[in-house]
Amino acid sequence: MTNSISTRVAVLGSGPAGWTAAIYAARAGLGPVVIQGIQPGGQLTTTTDVENYPGFREVIQGPWLMEEMQAQAEHVGTQMMWDTIVEVDLSERPFRLKGDGGALYVCDTLVIATGAQAKWLGVPGEVELSGKGVSACATCDGFFYRGKKVAVIGGGNTAVEEALYLTNHSHDVTLIHRRDSFRAEKILQDRLFANPHVKVIWDSEVAEFVAGGETEALVGLDLRNRRTGEISRIEVEGAFVAIGHKPATELFEGKLELDEDGYIQVETGTTRTSVPGVFACGDVMDKVYRQAVTAAGTGCMAALDAEKYLAAQEYEAIAAE
Ligand code: NAP
Repeated sequence: MTNSISTRVAVLGSGPAGWTAAIYAARAGLGPVVIQGIQPGGQLTTTTDVENYPGFREVIQGPWLMEEMQAQAEHVGTQMMWDTIVEVDLSERPFRLKGDGGALYVCDTLVIATGAQAKWLGVPGEVELSGKGVSACATCDGFFYRGKKVAVIGGGNTAVEEALYLTNHSHDVTLIHRRDSFRAEKILQDRLFANPHVKVIWDSEVAEFVAGGETEALVGLDLRNRRTGEISRIEVEGAFVAIGHKPATELFEGKLELDEDGYIQVETGTTRTSVPGVFACGDVMDKVYRQAVTAAGTGCMAALDAEKYLAAQEYEAIAAE
C-alpha cells in the first residue's frame, strides 16, 4: 500500500529558506511537512565558519546553524521527512509529490526551497582544499583572507563583483578568466578596470589548486595559458570559484515558469510562482543575493504568501456555500 501524507503546506528543501518557511507555517498552525532532499541543510552544510548571519557575535558553524533551524522548526510543529521527491504533479490541486521510496505527499500549497549549487571546475585540489583556501562565495568567506593574496576564477557578473568585493579585504586580487573578454556587464567591468587592487590574467584556466605549508592549505594556483599551453604558478591563499550556479529546478521544468538560467520566476515582491498555490524562496529563485539571511527572509515571505493563499481559498469556499 502506498504511504500517503497529506498536509496544508509541503516545503521542499531544508536550507535556511525551507526551515524559515516551516517555522512561520508551523506557527500559523498550518502543520507543515518539510521534505529534506538530497543535501539536508543545503549549501550551509558545506561551509564551515559563518560570520555574517545576524545575531551571533562569535563565529558560528554552518552545519550547526542548520541544526538549530531544524530543531526550532520541529519544536514549533514541523514534521520532517527524509525523502527525495522524484516527481511532482502541479496540474491540479491538491498538488501531488512522489518520493523515491514510493511515498505520496498531497499538499494544498507547495513551498519550493530546493536551492542552487555552485558550479565547480573539477580540477585537482579543488575538493581537498574546499574550506582550506578554496571557496565559491566571496561574500561568505572573503573576510577570512584579510590582507592576503586572493584570486577569483570566472568572467561573468558574479566573478567581477566578487573580485571587487574582495578589494575590501585585500589589495592583491587576481581575476583569472579563460577568454580575453568578460561577459560581465560593462558598468562592472569599468569599475574593475578602474580598481588598482585587481589585476586580470586572461586566456587562462586553473590546472591545479596547490596545497602547502604545515596545514596543507592553499598556497597557489597552477594556471594553464589556453593559447600557449604554458603552465605558470601564482601564489594565493584564497581562491574563489565564480563560474555560475545551477538552481535545483529539474523537477519543475515545463511545470513552472523558469528564467533563461533555470531559476524559478516569481511575481516581483512576492514568492508567488506561475502556478497559484506554489511558492518559491531562497537560491532557487534568487540569483543575485544568494545569502543565508536573504534565503531565510524569502522563506518567511513564502510561508506568509501560502497562509494568505489558503485563507483566501477558505473564504471563497465559504462564500460559495
Ligand atoms: P555566468 O554569467 O554564467 O558566467 C560564468 C562565467 O564563468 C563565464 O565568464 C564563463 O566563461 C566562466 N566559466 C564557466 N565555466 C567555466 C569553467 N569550467 N572554467 C572556467 N571558466 C568558466 O554566471 P554568473 O556570473 O554567476 O551569473 C549568473 C547570472 O546571474 C547571470 O545572468 C548574471 O547576469 C546574473 N547576476 C547578476 C548580478 C547583478 O545583476 N548584479 C550579479 C551576479 C549574477 P565564458 O565567459 O568563457 O563562458
